[in-house]
Amino acid sequence: MLHKKTFLCASFTVALWAGTTVVAQADVVTSIKPLGFIASAIADGVTKTEVLLPDGASAHDYALKPGDIIKLKNSELVVWVGPEMEAFMQKPVAQQAGDKNIALSTLAAVKPLLMKGDDDDDHDHEQGHSEEAHHDKNGDDDHHHGEYNMHIWLSPEISRLAAVAIHDKLVELMPKNKAKLDANLQQFEAELARTDKQIADELSPVKTKGYFVFHDAYGYFEKQYGLTSLGHFTVNPEIQPGAQRLHNIRTELVEQKAVCVFAEPQFRPAVVEAVARGTGVRIGTLDPLGSGIALGKDSYMQFLTHLSHQYTSCLKGD
Ligand SMILES: [Zn+2]
Repeated sequence: MLHKKTFLCASFTVALWAGTTVVAQADVVTSIKPLGFIASAIADGVTKTEVLLPDGASAHDYALKPGDIIKLKNSELVVWVGPEMEAFMQKPVAQQAGDKNIALSTLAAVKPLLMKGDDDDDHDHEQGHSEEAHHDKNGDDDHHHGEYNMHIWLSPEISRLAAVAIHDKLVELMPKNKAKLDANLQQFEAELARTDKQIADELSPVKTKGYFVFHDAYGYFEKQYGLTSLGHFTVNPEIQPGAQRLHNIRTELVEQKAVCVFAEPQFRPAVVEAVARGTGVRIGTLDPLGSGIALGKDSYMQFLTHLSHQYTSCLKGD
């Protein structure tokens, strides 16, 4: 189903051929992959979904490439968390004509479900230079210093609301596909309820096991399943944890309050290994962005299930 915009896009792409990679047309474009999981389930059989950030990229410091700007311009719908998470999306989305984006964290249904973020960000005062000065200098408005935890795609409840919002918007944009979109949403909700129950069962035996995560991203998932997070190394993965925090974490590890520390595929800092060394505490990995999982009908369920396996495989031990 080609509409005329596809031809414009094709010629535009050819014109840029020498400088950029070929850009495929997608009607739905999401900033990060887990949002692509949700969108591709709803848009399945109706339209294509594409994700801007490649696997391994950090949502914390991504810089849009020329090809990304073209994808955003040519899309029918852009789905993102909101300005407190993907600051790099603000400008291109503002330049879009019409009401063609969904900033999930700003939806009326989502707002009451937002969790407060931990914004203490290692205020241990053990260092001479202050972080505030550092931030002022950068003019860096990164999401971890907002009032709320913006890792909302780790909440099954908010993700269901995201699916509903994407569905409603696509029905508005493509009314002749309403029946298929309705069916997709229904299936998503049913699968999500089933997956949520499965994960609750899987995590139930490890609920009391303490652990540390690398960065403060998992609050929604931990709350949903009653996990015992003892803390995080850093609020902002771009900022190394301070010496006092590392000392405190190590003390808790030595006192065996924790059984695991979790690194992330996007961030594998040596500090995590250094802190765990000699304590007998296991090092696991949590992937909050679902790298390696392909978009599709069941991809969001695969993502949550994989994350659950990552928790249990480290926490249950032998
Ligand atoms: Zn984060």
